Amino acid sequence: MNKYPDSLASNPELEKRYRLLGEVFEATHDSVMITDAHCNIIAVNKAFTKISGYLPAEVIGENPRLLSSGNHDRSFYQAFWQDLIEKGSWEGEVWNKAKAGHLYLGWLRVSTLRIEKEVYYVGITTDITELHHSRQELEYSAYHDVLTKLPNRLQLYKTLDAMLETANKKNTQVAVLFLDLDNFKHINDSLGHEVGDELLTQICDQVFNENEQDFVARLGGDEFVIIPKLSGRVDFADIAEGYIKSFARSFQVQGNELYSSVSIGVSFFPSDANTSQELVRYADIAMFKAKAKGKNRVEYFKPYMAYAANKRQQIESKFRQALSVGAIDIFFQPQFSVSTNVLSGVEVLVRWYEAELDGWVVPGEFIPIVEGMGLIQELGELVLTKLCAQMKTWLNEGKRFPLVSINVSIFQIERGDFLENFVRIIESYDLKPNMFEVEITESALMLGKKKVLDTLAQLRDLGVVIAIDDFGTGYSSLSYLAKMPVQRLKIDKMFLQNLDVASNNAVLVRMIIALGNTLGINVIAEGVETQAQLEFLQSAGCAQSQGFYHSRALPAEDFERYLSQEMDGVIEEKAF
Ligand code: C2E
Ligand code: CA
Ligand code: CA
Repeated sequence: MNKYPDSLASNPELEKRYRLLGEVFEATHDSVMITDAHCNIIAVNKAFTKISGYLPAEVIGENPRLLSSGNHDRSFYQAFWQDLIEKGSWEGEVWNKAKAGHLYLGWLRVSTLRIEKEVYYVGITTDITELHHSRQELEYSAYHDVLTKLPNRLQLYKTLDAMLETANKKNTQVAVLFLDLDNFKHINDSLGHEVGDELLTQICDQVFNENEQDFVARLGGDEFVIIPKLSGRVDFADIAEGYIKSFARSFQVQGNELYSSVSIGVSFFPSDANTSQELVRYADIAMFKAKAKGKNRVEYFKPYMAYAANKRQQIESKFRQALSVGAIDIFFQPQFSVSTNVLSGVEVLVRWYEAELDGWVVPGEFIPIVEGMGLIQELGELVLTKLCAQMKTWLNEGKRFPLVSINVSIFQIERGDFLENFVRIIESYDLKPNMFEVEITESALMLGKKKVLDTLAQLRDLGVVIAIDDFGTGYSSLSYLAKMPVQRLKIDKMFLQNLDVASNNAVLVRMIIALGNTLGINVIAEGVETQAQLEFLQSAGCAQSQGFYHSRALPAEDFERYLSQEMDGVIEEKAF
């Protein structure tokens, strides 16, 4: 400030203080501007020059309007003046334009100053552009995925909601594509998360950024939702197939040549659903179906798929409870010697009674889900414990029973200490390993997992009989079979159907039986429903038979009547 008010000139004390104020004025970090009553700028400080780029000489005498950014409308200035006049001050965020042309955001406080009847306006501006940027970054990160920078779930729903609103007004369709990589988990598990992450980044750069006309969001993991912008484009089906084709290529990641096909599920607004949440869920369900049908394909949502998914959800939500409240029970299906028709064994099948799911839920439906939930070990231990308690009761009552067969999922062996738990449980009921048979499916065995094969060999060494379940469906080779620790084959029930018509089934069953007899492996047929089937098995030399023709799986008290009959293959001397 260069002009001293006249009254100060003769007062050195005041003059000193005035100088001090001048220093403060210049040194402060905030930009300060003083105007007269007509809004002509009469003074600015160094910080003003630093922030705005204008030297004092360039602005003195000018109207502050020269900083105007164009970002504020008339009502903004009206409110500003109203406050200033009524309250004597105003504060708020203001966008200004610097001399160089860029905009900056300031927190401006303006107050009215009256000195000897003169009115001045003093504006102090704190630069908050940085704050604004970090606020923006925060907002950006709330709506974007950190790894790929793609919009995230929140942004997806925001965008989709808006698109549905527009489509609703214009009476148009919206397609939601749910895309999931087919072998991402395998890549992650075998090559590490870093490779997995880089693969995702490359996919975004090389596939999604190529299709800029589509909105792509990452839901997490390897799940993406794509909403094609349709205007001028041909067909939804072409777009979805286009994505399948885009993934028929390799990605170079840290020296690895990686391939990953994708499965895509599609749902439509308004025919399938009219909310964002439902559309995404239905597309997800259709994607699941695409996986089940063999992956690397597109599947369109159909209402029946929601029914299956619902059932799955219900099972998931009820099963944990079922484990703890004792809703899980075991049934017994007897097996018979084909030549003598006497009881030769029994298979234990788990049953779950759930009133809210229409009564008995069959294991074929819930076992795969329970495996997915990671609860199969607990279920297996529960089944074995119940079984041992029942066997102990029979023994105490003086009843004899044949070989008792249990089904074991490979997850029970892979993920836990199956052998230790098995031994612990049966020993706590004073039962012996040679009273039991363990059934494992052929397809599981064919994976050739070392832990599984080792555990089965150890079980066999303890005296447990090892059986291959659902034999004939896993395409195992003969040489492979001979190396397995296996004493029994269960021919899958599929092969027992259509034995009389011109199918290959009769030939296959004869071959399996002959094969078993050659290798010294006992053969049992399951799913025997008719007299004709049994007669065929007799003629083919099959040792044992199990199925509805003889009996369905029964609760313990109903099964007991078979125990009083003559028995083949009793615990002391097995039939094979
Ligand atoms: P699986 O081991 O192949 O069991 C035979 C299935 O065929 C049983 O179905 C049985 O009820 C059914 N069945 C028996 N005789 C006939 C017949 O004559 N005709 C027809 N059409 N079906 C017949 P379920 O009880 O629904 O069991 C399905 C699968 O669930 C079983 O297939 C087995 O893999 C699994 N499972 C059952 N209990 C357990 C268990 O305690 N633990 C484990 N891990 N899996 C189990
Ligand atoms: Ca079985
Ligand atoms: Ca079976």
